[in-house]
Amino acid sequence: MNTIISKIDINNIDKSEIKKQAELLKKGKTVIFPTETVYGLGANALDEDAVKKIYEAKGRPSDNPLIVHVYSKEEVYNLAKNINEKAEIIMEHFWPGPITIILDKKDIVPYKTSGGLETVAIRMPSHPIAREIIKQAGVPIAAPSANISGRPSPTKADHVYEEMNGRVSGIVLGGDCNFGLESTVLDVTTETPMILRPGSITKEELEKVIGEVLVDPSLARKEDNDKAKAPGMKYTHYSPDADVYIVSGNENNIIEKINSLVEENKENGIRTGVMCLEKNKDKYKGEVLSLGNTLEEVGCNLFHALRQMDKMNIDVVYSEEFSTYGVGQAIMNRLLKSAGYKIINV
Ligand code: AMP
Ligand code: MG
Repeated sequence: MNTIISKIDINNIDKSEIKKQAELLKKGKTVIFPTETVYGLGANALDEDAVKKIYEAKGRPSDNPLIVHVYSKEEVYNLAKNINEKAEIIMEHFWPGPITIILDKKDIVPYKTSGGLETVAIRMPSHPIAREIIKQAGVPIAAPSANISGRPSPTKADHVYEEMNGRVSGIVLGGDCNFGLESTVLDVTTETPMILRPGSITKEELEKVIGEVLVDPSLARKEDNDKAKAPGMKYTHYSPDADVYIVSGNENNIIEKINSLVEENKENGIRTGVMCLEKNKDKYKGEVLSLGNTLEEVGCNLFHALRQMDKMNIDVVYSEEFSTYGVGQAIMNRLLKSAGYKIINV
């Protein structure tokens, strides 16, 4: 497939270039564009044939529903019903931004988009390029992360170009995503809202505005994953070609353990990578990638680091364990999935 590429400067958005891509969306084609979370692979959410192309381009299982991206809050009332007060508060407080809400769907939303469910996931992104393209397309845009299913989500222009050029009709290259982790998915159809996928808007932030929030308990253990309420959380995800392990315990023990594993692997000809906080990066042997100083930075850099490990032909990656406080919950969720829940306790 010939892919039309547009390079857009976020600080000086060329609206006529965006128009070219929005026209593709209007014609029922697929276009990749940056959002504040990760790059999204978009198509008209109300057009079944267009949505089918998203699943094909990603190789995504058809029971894994898509998030519908809107330009304005008003559009939500065309797509969903039974919108309660907590949903209203979330939209008011956090939109535009990195949180998706699950609502009862109206008939206008095809089952292809909702993965056969009676609910629909909706988000209003804040990224100015995403907003302009959705506005010009004039329709709600279904847009899952723009990676081949199972791979780490793309957070930089290079990631989408390398992985998706030729698989979609258009790509907007628009720099790096701000958060680098996918949106928080919050089910607001139940009495007490429940986080189905942790993201950069945290449980603590949500509880400040809507009171008690639950977290889907099946996310914590691999054995329970098939019970996850968000179908996408059941699948293998965020996996580089390298085999990932999380090393957990006291910091000094982690460093000692990883270094001895690196040595052992070296003797066996296994190329080993290490992912850690910036402050520890000089303490490790092997190919070391710092994820940054703060949890926010780790969230931003994680998927890029996983992709880098593959570029460096690394066979095995050891990652430090991170705190599950705040955005740490989303980081550890993604890291556990990418590691297939393999943890080395020291
Ligand atoms: P992605 O589009 O790759 O960011 O993934 C979207 C996530 O939201 C997946 O884990 C989906 O399974 C989940 N999701 C989308 N729609 C729904 C829905 N109606 N109910 C529950 N989870 C959903
Ligand atoms: Mg995804």
